[in-house]
Amino acid sequence: MTVTVRFAPSPTGHIHIGNSRPALYNWLYAKKAGGRFILRFDDTDLERSKQEYADSIEKDLRWLGIDPDLIERQSARFASYDAAAQKLKDAGLLYPCYETPEELERRRSRQRALGRPPVYDRAGLKQTDDERAALEAEGRKPHWRFLLPNHDGNPFETKRTEVIWDDLCRGNQAVDLASLSDPVLIRGDGTYLYTLPSIIDDIDMGVSHVIRGEDHVANTGVQIAIFEALGAKPPIFGHHNLLTTRDGEGLSKRKGALSIGSLREAGLEPMSVASLAVLTGTSQAVEPVPNMDALIEKFDLTSVSRSSAKFDPEELKGLNARLVHELPYEAVSDRLAGLGIRPSAEFWNTVRGNCETVGDAAQYWQIIVGPIEGRVEDEDRDFIAKAKELLPDGDITVESWGAWTGALKAETGRKGRGLFMPLRRVLTGMDHGPDMKAMLPLIGRQKILDRLP
Ligand code: GLU
Repeated sequence: MTVTVRFAPSPTGHIHIGNSRPALYNWLYAKKAGGRFILRFDDTDLERSKQEYADSIEKDLRWLGIDPDLIERQSARFASYDAAAQKLKDAGLLYPCYETPEELERRRSRQRALGRPPVYDRAGLKQTDDERAALEAEGRKPHWRFLLPNHDGNPFETKRTEVIWDDLCRGNQAVDLASLSDPVLIRGDGTYLYTLPSIIDDIDMGVSHVIRGEDHVANTGVQIAIFEALGAKPPIFGHHNLLTTRDGEGLSKRKGALSIGSLREAGLEPMSVASLAVLTGTSQAVEPVPNMDALIEKFDLTSVSRSSAKFDPEELKGLNARLVHELPYEAVSDRLAGLGIRPSAEFWNTVRGNCETVGDAAQYWQIIVGPIEGRVEDEDRDFIAKAKELLPDGDITVESWGAWTGALKAETGRKGRGLFMPLRRVLTGMDHGPDMKAMLPLIGRQKILDRLP
């Protein structure tokens, strides 16, 4: 069996770091198994689905390192859904219901008041053709419910019916179909809810594994029943915990909170976003993983914990900095050039340890090429004059700083901070920054002399 997975967003907004979790889990699962990854746009809601969101989702996934083998959209597949719906109707498993939302709510309140679970009583199933025709004549349009197989032939006498599966993340799972209302598959306006199209696609596209958030666990019980009603073998399911910020705030894609696009614009590395999205809420340490191959290697669905996956957006910055500190020159040379830097391995290796993002390198480049506003405290004026005299002759190399400060120490008796800080301030205009030993050759003899008053 070829492992085939899908990530199935609705293109009704931009994706955020929380949505990237199922995308990455599916991608890593497929790659680990040598399988296929389908990007499927769940765009049956034609009003709210927008091409610009589909484009932005695809761009964000590619930025993260996800390269779909196939892109599908549900809006192109209505004929298949209609055929499946007809098949279920013919089998008496999809039945029309005419209650309005208000009627349903009244019924649920009554059930709650009597201490009963608010499960739909299948009143629609009892209606005769004449009653239905009369309602249609009034202008009512039916919605359609799937008859759950939670009875022994008499649908008005339900019995405990467990759907069980071995979940890739959660182990053995059971959903009792008697505790659920018959799900609405088609709305009164004829549009499909996500439930049926998703199943038809999973069947037609040969999806072998469905990995998605744990908010879909109850759906899975229902969907397995529908797969079986259609004579299809259900895929293997895995439900992971959902990413939330530490204060428990959900990540609403409509609010654009922590959208992948905004993280990209903030200059974060895709691998730090991917590392956090994949490793948070697992038994593994959340650490920056340098590339997708290493993340594929590390990824393990059974390490996903049962409790929630909380993170602090600040953690992303720290992870990113740790990743950037280790990035090899070859990985960033083009981007440095794009920042207006004349790239060199010497430059990058000198500054990367001080960069939280690759973009931070620009400020150090500015310090090297100048102009800068060097600072000299009054009490350091004589010391700096002496420094100008003692700058070693010839080319400035990585040896120069040691030789220079050694000579200055012998001459002035200064040491430690009193020796180094005035030089750093006058040559860079800053109190902190990359190692001066490596900065000196990059600044170069002429500029060093120009900066020493
Ligand atoms: N469009 C659904 C969602 O975003 C897909 C869920 C699934 O993976 O089946 O929740």
